[in-house]
Amino acid sequence: MLSVAEAQAHVLAAGGNRRRETVPLSEAHGRYLAEDVIARLTQPPFNASAMDGYAVRFEDIAPGITFPVIGEAIAGKAFDGFFEEGVAVRVLTGAPMPDGTDTVILQEDVAYEDGAIRLIGDCPPHAGRHVRKAGQDFAEGSLLLQVGTRINVRGIALMAASGHGTAEVFARPRVVILSTGDELVPPGQAPGPSQIVNSNGVMLASLLRCCGAQVQDLGILPDRHDVIRDAIARAAADADILVTVGGASVGDHDYVQAALVDAGARIDFWKIAMRPGKPMMLGTLGESVTIGLPGNPVSAYVCAQLYLLPLVRHLMGAADPLPRPLQGRLTVDVRPNGGRVDYMRAMVTASADGWEVTPFPVQDSAMLSRLEAANALAIRPINAPAAEKGSNIAFLLLNAD
Ligand code: AMP
Ligand code: MG
Repeated sequence: MLSVAEAQAHVLAAGGNRRRETVPLSEAHGRYLAEDVIARLTQPPFNASAMDGYAVRFEDIAPGITFPVIGEAIAGKAFDGFFEEGVAVRVLTGAPMPDGTDTVILQEDVAYEDGAIRLIGDCPPHAGRHVRKAGQDFAEGSLLLQVGTRINVRGIALMAASGHGTAEVFARPRVVILSTGDELVPPGQAPGPSQIVNSNGVMLASLLRCCGAQVQDLGILPDRHDVIRDAIARAAADADILVTVGGASVGDHDYVQAALVDAGARIDFWKIAMRPGKPMMLGTLGESVTIGLPGNPVSAYVCAQLYLLPLVRHLMGAADPLPRPLQGRLTVDVRPNGGRVDYMRAMVTASADGWEVTPFPVQDSAMLSRLEAANALAIRPINAPAAEKGSNIAFLLLNAD
């Protein structure tokens, strides 16, 4: 049996093609940078007032002093006069500081009368008070964001402010989902005798879209070798990732592996030392990577979190595509664990002392109600001894979907 880390390494090594593209900033959210972002502008581009008030020379300031006001500067329009010692210029937030001034006195600290201000508040403590220095945020030529970084909304603002209208990113992988099983009917359709609803297709499609993939869900295929083989061959032609669901074990009615091979795929078939999760397949078919997920809904979900989403993030250019466990403390006792890592459906809550982790007492890999109620997967390592309430436990937070 492979360890989870080994299986993840295999999935990422299967790689696939990363395509680069240039997108407008309005479409860059959630994408990963294909190159470093270097500032094209300096911010602020000039010394700027950070407040509404009066620009003066610090060394002219004394308690109760009066300054004649000789002009004004507002955001977008500099003072165009000539500044001399002992005078003030009215400035509004964002205005360029007039040459010769270095400090802003707040408007609430002065009394204005007859074209002059008198300082009625405290003297500013130091030169430069309420002034944003040119380049204090960033300077032209400086490295702002590194290749592989996920572009968040704050990064979009930073890129825009630093002179970029577009982002160099990796393309969103095209993922095709194929669910197999004679027992399945589409969501919304009443199941006949012995049938159940294909819940995995929509779940996986939604999960994949959350992380940026372009998804095509081909729906349900019957457990028939030729049908599955032909669908796989067609789908792989323009997919970066081909996901099959169900039919992945070597039971009599499991056709997916044989169909993949017949369609020309090179397949590895693994048992991974984890629970839930049955054997998983990984392979390549032409330009696409194929992943075969177990049909059990909870297993499919957990395997998608551990293997499929990291592959998507990897193709999208993520420097760090694997899920990162957090640490919390158990609110209940848990039993010793066996020879597979157990990803227990759990509820975590934030407390003043950190995360509190409550694994659910029933851990059935077919129970979607418990999966939905969970917001974390608590991780029990292989052969972990019984753990008492209050002891540390790692978990994956499921807050992104
Ligand atoms: P399989 O991996 O095909 O042997 O399926 C394992 C279990 O998961 C069986 O109980 C299937 O009925 C169920 N199952 C398979 N595919 C799906 C699906 N797309 N949606 C919901 N349940 C499924
Ligand atoms: Mg099946």
